[in-house]
Amino acid sequence: MSYRIAIDGPAGAGKSTIAKKIAKEKGFIYVDTGAMYRAMALYLLRSGVEPADGDEIAEKCKEADITIRYEKGGQVVFLNGEDVNGLIRTEEVGNMASASSAIPQVRQKLVELQQRLANSTDVVMDGRDIGTCVLPDADVKVYLTADSRVRAKRRYEELVARGESCNLDRIEQDIIERDKRDMTREISPLRQAADAVLIDSSHMDIDEVVQAVIALTEQ
Ligand code: C5P
Repeated sequence: MSYRIAIDGPAGAGKSTIAKKIAKEKGFIYVDTGAMYRAMALYLLRSGVEPADGDEIAEKCKEADITIRYEKGGQVVFLNGEDVNGLIRTEEVGNMASASSAIPQVRQKLVELQQRLANSTDVVMDGRDIGTCVLPDADVKVYLTADSRVRAKRRYEELVARGESCNLDRIEQDIIERDKRDMTREISPLRQAADAVLIDSSHMDIDEVVQAVIALTEQ
């Protein structure tokens, strides 16, 4: 049986940064499930579907084949055979991912892919429903959060470092709206699993969080 670490939490809590470091330290594979929802969202945007049109999303998502491969130590997401890693980290794609991930047909397709991956290898998987739905038997479950202003600042700094122009208040507003959508949707809403450990990283640095999670794997 493979070893599974599940990390859930709201947007910008640092899940992927933390998960990548843990995966490296433990020699596990890091599975970024948000990237799969983002690749699906990119397909929907390219198809001209409106985020509010649930019926059309349910239909169109059937045409998107999402696969992942591990190359140079990282996850690469393919959309109908095209490497889309460099195209999915925009706010537009993130917002479409948040809207379309509430549609059952989208979730069903991607959860199957995630479960298949976790069956075959030791993983650190991050997302919104990993501890609650995708891997309910995970060996370690973490709910990672931070104050919305702190999360907005981290995202702001990331975007500035990439040379993108952005506005801190706007980013915080987007984060708050995205969290609300993710937490209040009908299927697989974002919530802390009953057996997950809560880590609030508002006043912690990356290494402190990584060490806190590693300690959980050693208990
Ligand atoms: O984590 P990331 O910001 O890349 O995720 C984009 C969106 O995909 C989230 O806002 C959420 O709506 C959706 N998502 C999800 N379930 C997951 C991972 C991501 O619903 N396991």
